[in-house]
Amino acid sequence: QDVIRMKGIKKVYLTNELETHALTNINLTIQQGEFVSIAGPSGCGKSTLLSIMGLLDNPTDGEYWLAEQDVSKLTQQQQTSIRNKAVGFIFQSFNLIADMNVFENVELPLVYSGMAKNERKQRVLEVLEQVQMSHRIKHLPNQLSGGQQQRVAIARALAGKPQILLADEPTGNLDSHNGEKAMELLAELHAQGTTICMVTHDDRYNSYATRIINLFDGSIVEEKAKLADIA
Ligand code: ADP
Ligand code: ADP
Repeated sequence: QDVIRMKGIKKVYLTNELETHALTNINLTIQQGEFVSIAGPSGCGKSTLLSIMGLLDNPTDGEYWLAEQDVSKLTQQQQTSIRNKAVGFIFQSFNLIADMNVFENVELPLVYSGMAKNERKQRVLEVLEQVQMSHRIKHLPNQLSGGQQQRVAIARALAGKPQILLADEPTGNLDSHNGEKAMELLAELHAQGTTICMVTHDDRYNSYATRIINLFDGSIVEEKAKLADIA
């Protein structure tokens, strides 16, 4: 099943009458169960592509289906609803809420989705167990190391059981030891069935993905699938 399907996606930014062609013609599908890495130099369009995937931004042209829905046919409100249900985000800067503890941070998206309190508690504890942060539920983000903060952010992204996890430079603020550990966690979540699309400019981490898409100047220039996946 396709979680993401893009056809002829273009994105043009207009600033002070200057056009930037961030994405020129993207054709791409991501199936359930894949771990895709989008690689390429700074400015090639990786973040733009991820923003469009996550419905944080709309394309200038082209067709996009997310979770079997034609995004161009959705109202703003329907897009928000599908984004909240289908997509989990993790960011370079973790984006945890500073005055909420670990439990509350992970619980927040479930509060928004209207889940009952008992059910929320059960789900938060389950997902914190999955990222091995159960021992820190009362800690505030600034009482945790960077690696631990990213694990909490991953738990928050997974709490609502999204169809895809979108990760924008998830190791960007971590030292190489913690970066490696964060990637191992993503690989483990993938092995348990989570579909992941990650953006990275660090080639070392591409090896965790099952497919690597190389972007250059807003176009896909190369796609590599791991041999194990082709067989
Ligand atoms: P990457 O994530 O690969 O570094 P981006 O998607 O951030 O690339 O950027 C692709 C191109 O689009 C770059 O030339 C960048 O300067 C431009 N760009 C990105 N965001 C904006 C924006 N909000 N307004 C104008 N230009 C932008
Ligand atoms: P991990 O490798 O599990 O991410 P670290 O080895 O970086 O954790 O950190 C070990 C311990 O030190 C953690 O329990 C964490 O709470 C604490 N710690 C690390 N960095 C900080 C920090 N900047 N502020 C407060 N506590 C920290």
